[in-house]
Amino acid sequence: MQPPKLDWAKSWLKSTKQLYIQGAWTPSVSQETFDSINPSNKEKLAALSLAGKADVDLAVKSARTAFENASWRGMNRRERATVLRSIAQLIRSHQAELATLETLDNGKTYQESFYDDLPESADVFDYYAGWIDKIYGGSVPVEKGFINFTQHEALGVCALIVPWNFPLLLACWKIAPALAMGNTLIVKPSPFTSLTMVRVFELIHESKILPAGVLNLVTGDLEAGEALSRHSGIDKISFTGSTAVGKKVAEGAASSNLKRVSLELGGKSPNIIFDDVKDLESVVARSFQAMFSHKGEKCSEPTRFIIHEKIYSEFVSRLIPKAEAIVCGDPFDSKTQQGPQAHEGHYQKILNYIELGKKEGAKLLCGGGRDPYSEKSGGFFIRPTIFGDVKNNMRIAQEEIFGPVLCLIKFQTEEEAIAIANGTPYGLAAGVYSDDAKRAHRVATQLDAGMVFVNHYGCYDFASPFGGVKQSGWGKEMARHSLEEYTKLKSVWVRYS
Ligand code: NAD
Repeated sequence: MQPPKLDWAKSWLKSTKQLYIQGAWTPSVSQETFDSINPSNKEKLAALSLAGKADVDLAVKSARTAFENASWRGMNRRERATVLRSIAQLIRSHQAELATLETLDNGKTYQESFYDDLPESADVFDYYAGWIDKIYGGSVPVEKGFINFTQHEALGVCALIVPWNFPLLLACWKIAPALAMGNTLIVKPSPFTSLTMVRVFELIHESKILPAGVLNLVTGDLEAGEALSRHSGIDKISFTGSTAVGKKVAEGAASSNLKRVSLELGGKSPNIIFDDVKDLESVVARSFQAMFSHKGEKCSEPTRFIIHEKIYSEFVSRLIPKAEAIVCGDPFDSKTQQGPQAHEGHYQKILNYIELGKKEGAKLLCGGGRDPYSEKSGGFFIRPTIFGDVKNNMRIAQEEIFGPVLCLIKFQTEEEAIAIANGTPYGLAAGVYSDDAKRAHRVATQLDAGMVFVNHYGCYDFASPFGGVKQSGWGKEMARHSLEEYTKLKSVWVRYS
């Protein structure tokens, strides 16, 4: 692992970060700014331009002009693929710099940023570069005298709104396929974590690999997000964030120009562990890692372990010491396993949920509040918290907490486990551990979730669709599915007789 670039970051953070519109850096029309705060110590990292409605109008104009002049979608496909590969390379060659910014801004450990977020942010551009000449329509057998074929066309101007938990990575998951298909884009990162996106835009700008207006960046929050959702000049909005805001985005799209919408939203994912598992220690270890890495701020993490009553006590006795051993602290310290929660409002929300769990009568098995490092640093550190004897109708089992707080729920029968697993408004991911292959398959088919992990919670690959059902979202990311999200399918009829 390359060491962090803290001196470089200190100097880079001194200047106010501006919006990027029509291939140039510009302050917001209002000249207003907001601060990005380091969650490890509450210190200001940098000031950023605060985009509002007027800035969104300018960004839409810029993206629309670039779409109409076809400087990007009209580019030779091989050249377009080369541009995507160059972006991958830019990210790769600035891995330590970007990982440093991500850790400063989000609080995840430098190791997590360096090994989890950064490589994938680069690789996804290579993956979609490879797709550019591999997505094509088909010839349709229709009535005699006609030829009918389909073709995939770029959608137009796409707005991409992302949250703060994997700031650069989740943006790249959208930018790469949307660019691959020839669209022009407006990216809006979370106000809590915009810095890595700003830096990647700088690198792209300096390398002059994209025509002006193809990529636009607006930093800001609700006003910019709402303006994007409601703008009639946008053809598609791809949103990752909370279910509550996702509903507003869908409303904004419906009440304006009915732009296409895809939503990657919250989760309350179950992880069922049957009593037939032979290697309980590895099940506990894998489940623990899936739940508590990235400080429990992962949408698909298994926040409800549904454990057969026969192995419940042994499972708990193996699980708790792992949580108690977690070291919270400076995310740049190699001994630290868990950094601060991403921002103060979120930190308070998690602490409130922990208090709620105690009041609701769940049994607090470990954690239960701030980590002492919070006092020392002024940052937002929470002890990994596990509640036992949780009932699935408790609010801590129904509502997304999005932090290091785990619910343990006992079950007796397979039917009961499935009912508990499916018994929330969410359907992002689900896990099942069983050494009985028939049972594992039977249960997997009945879990109402977009992704089901059998005997290894948390597998991801660009080739496999990612996304939820129910109130966890609309649509899929990754693989060919993302490309379909950023294209429109045209059916062409030709009469030949
Ligand atoms: P959030 O919904 O508060 O914000 C997400 C983004 O929406 C931010 O960029 C924000 O500025 C913007 N926004 C805020 N109000 C808006 C509005 N009215 N209209 C349009 N945009 C608006 O979410 P968050 O707190 O940043 O992130 C955490 C949430 O993201 C969790 O619920 C988590 O489950 C979810 N998430 C889902 C996935 C997934 O793939 N399903 C992945 C990561 C995170």
